[in-house]
Amino acid sequence: MGLVELEALEVRTSDAVLVEGLSFTLEAHRILAVVGESGSGKTVSALALCGLLPPGVAARWRALTIAGTPVATSADLAALRGRVIAAMPQDASAALDPLMRIGALIDEVLEHVAGLESAAERTSRRRSLLSEVGFSEPFAVERLFPHQLSGGMRQRAVLAATLAANPSVLLVDEPTTALDAALRTNVLALFKELAQRRGLALLFITHDLAAAEAIADDVIVVYAGRVAEAGALTKVFGAPRHPYTAGLLAARLDRGNSRAMAGSIPALGDRPVGCRFQPRCARASPACAQQPPLTVGIACHHPLEPS
Ligand code: SF4
Repeated sequence: MGLVELEALEVRTSDAVLVEGLSFTLEAHRILAVVGESGSGKTVSALALCGLLPPGVAARWRALTIAGTPVATSADLAALRGRVIAAMPQDASAALDPLMRIGALIDEVLEHVAGLESAAERTSRRRSLLSEVGFSEPFAVERLFPHQLSGGMRQRAVLAATLAANPSVLLVDEPTTALDAALRTNVLALFKELAQRRGLALLFITHDLAAAEAIADDVIVVYAGRVAEAGALTKVFGAPRHPYTAGLLAARLDRGNSRAMAGSIPALGDRPVGCRFQPRCARASPACAQQPPLTVGIACHHPLEPS
């Protein structure tokens, strides 16, 4: 049984469906990347799984189990948030209170979410967390204020606080966006190590295909709120069968490609009937006016041949 078993997530506002039909199983020690261009519904899906959707946006699902606990409502999610499922904020700097020392930030989670009442235990745990995320001198770091840390250090501090209540499932959203190449490599290695060492199930939201390839076991490619293709990352990236996946991979700058995919994701009120990729797809036919079912991990009436 997976740590997260999700069936048919739908996220919507009062007049538009943002995401529909998102299903996956995520197991301990594994990393699942959700990739796609901006506006594809990645972030809002992660927020829905943590019960953190903004006002006016709501989620429902056919079935959801997290760490063996059936989840029916957003209130159920709130009860699990932090202790069982935790989300690392996208913007580490914004997540830190500029007047709070790093040690106090972590202590707050240890005391109020993890329920550690003993100050001595909190100190020991806090230093161990700071070491775990790569600080060689936790004694010094815990005394610092956020403005005394570099961007990469702030991100590690936020990660330590996120892990403080020992969650089984961790959601991270574009964690490498603001980092230079060397830091990016370090952060990705850290996530991979954490998934292995702690047995975390890690949901990794990114538009960065190279980052997904560096750490993920499985991948879901989303387009305009729907799953285009899903499966083992080596299989999907090695031999993409959905034209959108193929287009994304063909436009990878890190592979020396400079050919951006033509067109852009349709706006919410402008989504075509049937397959939403039609206006950008060279393989489109009249059949594509019907929404393609997700069959064997591919939602396409005319998938590319397996290579
Ligand atoms: S269903 Fe049709 S339009 Fe959509 S990706 Fe497949 S071939 Fe292209």
